[in-house]
Parts: sequence; C-alpha cells; structure tokens
Amino acid sequence: MNCGILQSAMRLTLFSRLVFGYLAIFLLMTAVGLYAVYQLRRIQDITRSVLERDRKTLDLGEKLAETMLSQVRYEKKFFITKDRALYDQFLLFEKDFDRLLDDADGIADLRGKALLDAIRAQHQRYGKLVGEELDFVQAKQPYSERSYREEKENAVNGVIGDLEKLKARGQQRREGKLTGLAAAGDDAHRVAVLIAAAALILVIAISLLITRSVTKPLTILKERTSLIARGEFEGKVDLTSPPEIAELARAFNLMCDRLKDLDNMKSDFFSMMSHELRTPLTSIKEGIGLLLEGVGGTVTDKQRRLLTILAEESQRLISLVNSLLDLSKMEAGMMTYHLQPASLSSVIDRAVTELGPLAEAKRIKIEARIREPIPLVKMDPDRILQALRNLVGNAVKFTPDGGRVTLQAAQKNGSVEVAVSDTGPGIAADDLPMIFDKYRQGSSKSAYMLRGTGLGLAIVKHIITSHGGQVWVESEAGQGSSFIFVLPN
Ligand code: ADP
Repeated sequence: MNCGILQSAMRLTLFSRLVFGYLAIFLLMTAVGLYAVYQLRRIQDITRSVLERDRKTLDLGEKLAETMLSQVRYEKKFFITKDRALYDQFLLFEKDFDRLLDDADGIADLRGKALLDAIRAQHQRYGKLVGEELDFVQAKQPYSERSYREEKENAVNGVIGDLEKLKARGQQRREGKLTGLAAAGDDAHRVAVLIAAAALILVIAISLLITRSVTKPLTILKERTSLIARGEFEGKVDLTSPPEIAELARAFNLMCDRLKDLDNMKSDFFSMMSHELRTPLTSIKEGIGLLLEGVGGTVTDKQRRLLTILAEESQRLISLVNSLLDLSKMEAGMMTYHLQPASLSSVIDRAVTELGPLAEAKRIKIEARIREPIPLVKMDPDRILQALRNLVGNAVKFTPDGGRVTLQAAQKNGSVEVAVSDTGPGIAADDLPMIFDKYRQGSSKSAYMLRGTGLGLAIVKHIITSHGGQVWVESEAGQGSSFIFVLPN
C-alpha cells in the first residue's frame, strides 16, 4: 500500500509536485488561521457576555435594591406625615421597581428567573400590605400597626435578601466566565503554538522534499556532464522521476551516445588519415635523404639548401602525424603500455642526450640534477621518454638562446617527482588552466612565433595519467616554467 503511494508520488511531474506541495502548505496555513479565528471568536463571545449581560444584571440588581429602599423611605414618611405627594413618590418607585424587574427578567437565565419571580412576589406582597394599611388609614379604622410593620419588614427583607442572592450569583457567574476566558486563552495559545510548530515542520519537510527531488537529479546530471567534458562518454544516467527529469535524462543519454559515436568516428578518421599520410611522407623523406647523399647525381649548394629545408619540413610533418596518431590511439584507449620496473634516471639521461644537440644549437645549457638515488618506477620507459621528450623539447624550443633547462628528480611521499624547468618566457596566467588541452597553444608572442601543433602536452598528460600519475605546470609570465609530474612508486 505504502509502496503504491510512493510509486505514484514518484511518477508525479515536477509541476504537480510543486502545486501539491504549495497546496498542502496553503491548507496548513489556512487551518492554522481558521483555528486562530475560531478561538478569538470564542474569547470574544465570553468577553462580550461578561461585559454586557453580567454587568447589566449586576447594575439592575443594584438599581432594584436602591429603588426598593427609596420606596420604603417614601412609604414610611407618608405614614408619618400623611402627605399624599409622598405616597405618589412611593407609587412612582413601585412602578420603577416593576420596570427594572421586567428588564432583569429579559436577560436572566432559568435560575435567575426563579429568583426574580420570588422577588416579584415579595414586592407585590409589600405593595399589597401598604395598600391595605392605606385603606385603614383613609377609613380611619383601627388596625394592628405593629403586625403590618413586621409583615412589611419581612417582605422588604425578603426582596433585599433575594436581590443579594441575585448579586452574589451574578458575581459568581462572572468569576466563572473569567476563569473560562483565561482557560480558553491558555488553550488557544497552546494549540496555536502546537499547530504552528507542526505546520512549520511540515512546511520545511515538504520544501525539502520538493527541493531534493529537483536538486538530486540535477546534481547527478551535473556530475555526468563534468565527466563528458573530460571526454568520458561511457555510462548512462538512470533517472526515472520526476517525469520531466526522466525525459531530460533520456535526451542526455541520447546526446552521450551521439557524442561517443562522433568521438569514435573522429578517432577512426585520425588514425586512418595518419596511416595514409605517414607512409608517403616517410617515402618522401627517405627520397630526399638519398638525393642529399648524391644517389641522384651531384647536388649543387643551392639544391642542397633546398633539399635540407624539404627534409626538415617532411620530418616536421612526420612528427605531427606521429603525434596525431599517438593521441588518437590514446583517446580511443588503444595505446598499450608495457609497464615494468625501470630506472627514471636513465630515461632522464636519454632525454638529455637526445635533445642535447638541439639545445647546443641555441647555446642553451641543459642538465639533469639528480641528487639522490631514485628507486625503480613501474612504467613504460618508451612512453615516459616520449613525455620527457615533449617537455624538454618545449623547454628548449621556448627558451631564448643562452638560457638554461634543468631536469630534476626526487622521491616525495612515496612517489617520484620529476620537474623540467627552463628560463624561458613563462606562461600567462590566463593560459595555464587549459595548457594541457589538445590544440591549445599559449597566447604569448614567443608561443605565437614558435607555433607548433598543440598536441605535445596533451600527449604528456595522457601518458602520465595512464601511469596513475599527475602532471601540472608552475609558471609565471617572464619567470620561466616548471613542468612537474609525479609517478606512483
Ligand atoms: P606546441 O608546443 O606544439 O605548441 P604543446 O602542447 O607542447 O604544443 O604546448 C602547448 C603550449 O604550451 C605551447 O604552444 C606554449 O604556448 C606552451 N608551452 C609549453 N611548454 C612551454 C614552455 N616550456 N615555456 C613556455 N610555454 C610553453
């Protein structure tokens, strides 16, 4: 069941994920908002009821007590003075009392109404007693003044007592509501904090999930792109969700296949072309050699000069074709390395010996400085010699007449480090990052004038990395260059 849900979630498009994600966040926020509104309304209702109903009930209770006392005051004064105006005042207060009682009845609850009924009965009884007493007074008949006074007092005390009870009840209810209000406030606060925390965690989780579902495949694609940039076309990107990214991965894999085909085609083309060019070029060079040796008859000085130029140019072309052939073989992974423990010192010596005459012609001092004995290194000596030839050849080529080229070797952290340094023009900082890329040539004036093929360093890099080593350059324009490589021991 869970698995099914997970699978359908994985099939969701990026668009749907974003929409569902934000919808969930929106719903959560709305729920938190609605809950807050609901709690606020509750608190508002209780507050209003305390402020309006309970206060009104208490006010009415106080007014009823005052009116009752005023009525009693006028009744007493009337029976002493027999002044009719005082009796009229008594009647007015009686009416007021009834009106206030009706008002209180309108807002009272059931128990309050029962109390008000009792008050009304006692008040009516008091009014009736006063009316009877008045009749006796007007008819000038004798009556028991004392018993009337006692009965009136009882009725009035009953009214005042019940009003006190009503007041006490009102205050009690008010207290209760205020306690409820505080509890509702606490509840609302607690629940709101809980919901807000849960909503925050969910929002973070949803955002993380959505972001991850986008960034994770993009990181995989980015890493794969870096590999392709380094010329590694093997391996497919396997991304099945979200659908947009899966689509992108399919297109990406298709592009990789196409690039691989093109790269293979290019390597095949180069090796075919190199073979086709090398054979006739070698014949040309040998033919020129024979002519120079006088096989075709006596050679005049002018012809010799021309033939020498032709021999040099054909040698240059042969070197170029050899480099192209080597590089295309290396790139196609078809170069075989015969690894064996061999002495780096002797390879260095051979490179110095081979390039000595070239350096001498430019009065460049070339020397190998190997201070300590270097252990044997597992390598293909011919290929390492080829790499050294390229590095020392460049050093001699770019170093001006009278300069110096030094080869050093030393053991370092379980590897052997070889450095080819020169007192040449150095390499501009802008050129450094891509100096080992094929067909790349420096932008300096001397590099421009001594234009080569731009293949030498690419071949060096291939050879060294195929040995599990590393190669880099340390140089500054005008300060000479040091090409350094390390080979694992
Ligand atoms: P090429 O020498 O045929 O141009 P490389 O791949 O051997 O090709 O070298 C690439 C570029 O690196 C050169 O064009 C040059 O600008 C720069 N370079 C290589 N070695 C040196 C050096 N020792 N001193 C200065 N620049 C160098």
